[in-house]
Amino acid sequence: MRPYFQFSHNSLFTLIMINWNKFLASYRVWRRRWLYPLISVIVAISLCLSTPLPSKAIDLLPLLFQGVQIFQLSNLSTRQEVELGRQMNNELRQEVRISRNRQLTSYIEEVGRRLAANSDRPNIPYTFQVVEDDAVNAFATLGGFVYVNTGLIQAAENEAELASVIGHEMGHIEGKHLVKQMRQRAIASGIATATGLNRSQAVAIGVDLALNRPRSRQDEYDADTRGLKILTQAGYAPSAMVSFMKKLQGRSVIPTFLSTHPGASDRVKSLQRQIDDLPSNSNYGLDNADYKANIRALLL
Ligand SMILES: [Zn+2]
Repeated sequence: MRPYFQFSHNSLFTLIMINWNKFLASYRVWRRRWLYPLISVIVAISLCLSTPLPSKAIDLLPLLFQGVQIFQLSNLSTRQEVELGRQMNNELRQEVRISRNRQLTSYIEEVGRRLAANSDRPNIPYTFQVVEDDAVNAFATLGGFVYVNTGLIQAAENEAELASVIGHEMGHIEGKHLVKQMRQRAIASGIATATGLNRSQAVAIGVDLALNRPRSRQDEYDADTRGLKILTQAGYAPSAMVSFMKKLQGRSVIPTFLSTHPGASDRVKSLQRQIDDLPSNSNYGLDNADYKANIRALLL
């Protein structure tokens, strides 16, 4: 009687070959889908870990959970720029005191929105915040984040003067000045790798530069020109930009805004020339009494 099922040598060999081929095919798929990406992640992590860091050591666990987020500063998309700006904002909020005065913040947001609508980059979601600090100063990071000190709101005599500084800071964002500075710093300190910078390195460098380092002279001129354009297009009196700078220059203690922004008198001259060339000179935002009664009062 023939067994119910009998392998001949031939059929056994065929069966083994079929299974072997199946195994090979699925191994190739596995290798393509999992092994290669896994190797690149491991390489990326070891690159990050082998690069020396200025102060903070990289915490490996969050890095693994979040995935390795690498930023190419030379080729940053708008989405990445906004994301970095948001991360830096989280960090900055621990370094400076953000005002909880809703009325004052809404006012700054209102002025900011009016200016933002006339920016060269109207599509970035601008964020305007008030910092409780008496120093006459304002600063911006990237991806639309602008910070205005209470000291600056206090020092301005009208809305146009205040708007002129906010416009200048938006000019830095338009020109991507901080991104450029971050790239230079990363290269100079040797922490930029061929793959770029990881998120914590980028945030640390950006926050330090935004708070402690002046922009270059060239970037200041560029931010002035861009800021003047934004201010004028938004309908504010362009003369306020010059009058405010002159006023601050004349103080016994030069305010942070000017002392960290080099070459103030040359900037005034350059701005005045550009204003003289403007076809018309608006007077909007020059109402000192209104500003004093409604805005400075919010600071008390
Ligand atoms: Zn500046």
